[in-house]
Amino acid sequence: MKRTTAANTFASESGRSSSGTCCVVGGGPAGMMLGYLLARAGIEVLVLEKHADFLRDFRGDTVHPSTLEVMFELGVLDEFLKRSHQKQVHQVRARIGRDEILLGDFSLLSTHCRFMVMMPQWEFLDFIAEQARRYPTFHLRMETEATGLIEEDGRIVGVRGNSPAGPLEVRATLVVGADGRNSVVRDCSGLRVEDLGAPTDVLWMRLSKHADDPELFFYADRGRALFLTDRGDYWQCGVPAPKAAIAEMQAKGIEAFRAAIVELAPFFEDRVGELRNWNDLKLLTVTVNRMRRWYRPGFVCIGDAAHAMSPVGGVGINLAIQDAVAAANILAGPLCKGNVSPGDLAKIQRRRAFPTRLTQSVQALIQKRIAGHGLGNPGPTRLPWIVRLLERTTLPCRLRNRVIPVGIRPEHVKTPDILNAAYGIRREPLSISQAPYRAPGEPPC
Ligand SMILES: Cc1cc2nc3c(=O)[nH]c(=O)nc-3n(C[C@H](O)[C@H](O)[C@H](O)COP(=O)(O)OP(=O)(O)OC[C@H]3O[C@@H](n4cnc5c(N)ncnc54)[C@H](O)[C@@H]3O)c2cc1C
Repeated sequence: MKRTTAANTFASESGRSSSGTCCVVGGGPAGMMLGYLLARAGIEVLVLEKHADFLRDFRGDTVHPSTLEVMFELGVLDEFLKRSHQKQVHQVRARIGRDEILLGDFSLLSTHCRFMVMMPQWEFLDFIAEQARRYPTFHLRMETEATGLIEEDGRIVGVRGNSPAGPLEVRATLVVGADGRNSVVRDCSGLRVEDLGAPTDVLWMRLSKHADDPELFFYADRGRALFLTDRGDYWQCGVPAPKAAIAEMQAKGIEAFRAAIVELAPFFEDRVGELRNWNDLKLLTVTVNRMRRWYRPGFVCIGDAAHAMSPVGGVGINLAIQDAVAAANILAGPLCKGNVSPGDLAKIQRRRAFPTRLTQSVQALIQKRIAGHGLGNPGPTRLPWIVRLLERTTLPCRLRNRVIPVGIRPEHVKTPDILNAAYGIRREPLSISQAPYRAPGEPPC
């Protein structure tokens, strides 16, 4: 397999300038998965992550069956499930007003895992990094923040950044922006992002968990809502609130806020005092947007950098992973030959724009139902008609059970594994979808 060679390759950790095949900016779900898949296919890849570790709180914890299916196709599912995780969720239930309803039933899926895993994102990213490090062409530089792009003759040819050792310059055949919803490299590329507006922000907090607590994920009543994520010995709780209402809530005082939590979930009465003051809560701004064009010569964005997702349905991580799988499938061949055309990059957008648009539209509809008619409305909450329809009718019920856990247009790993190819190591039986990817008519590289 052809690889880029240079005096200072991605492997030379100390160098202030280096060059290689693909530089991924951002070590979140999208960037780490893409880095892993490309290295697994034998491509020299460098991931730049601005933080020193993956240990950040209040990040999504949901690993959906679509991502577990990717793990299966990669042959690492068993190892993944050995990692510490809170639980395997087979059904998602909620209480809306007085009604307890089923929001999703994973046991009816045809994927290998008929459940969702709740795993802190740091654990998930650490696992991907551990798998990727088995490949000599994978390089990860933590505490390295991209600050700009290098452009020559209208093409992006590299990244500028800062590391603990000082400023650095990375040159690459392709730069991938996977640095999340406030993407610096996207802004530097001059590509435009369309803001779709998000009516609510989310206040996050922790409350301790007791063994006999109800296993419900979502509560909504009398103009308030509460999301719960099981973190083992505590609940990570999210309270969505209209952007304009947050200051008003704070003005009413922490006592009123605590009382509102207890009204929704009475079992918190004995521990809501753990919220001593507003410093025990963290406000996370929700952004929903998408790029009109995801690429330009030498550069492409994926994940939240290309389309920031709202927390509704907890699908953002899985969309980011699906983008990474699609991007690797499309790019492995061209990167292997050292030549990525804008046409190759356009294929990524064509493949992923439809699932993104549709998912954002469904999220907007649900958010509108909550923020437009529910949040702030002091009357008793009744189930929106769309939820009743999803509950009771066969076809919508099937759609609900498939769309959230598996996503629209699920991606399958088509890139090869050089360890399998080189040493004949086979960790799980190969399925058709694991056949090495090759563009039509392209010789093996
Ligand atoms: C409040 C809230 C709750 C959510 N809850 C869920 C949930 O439960 N489940 C779910 O699936 N989704 C959830 N989401 C959405 C989800 O977090 C995102 O869709 C997902 O993380 C996107 O992955 P990503 O890799 O594209 O971006 P990110 O996860 O944002 O990763 C980007 C990475 O790039 C790094 N970075 C940023 N700038 C630079 C730079 N200049 N140089 C180098 N590195 C940089 C960051 O440190 C980060 O590690 C939630 C979103 C919000 C706002």
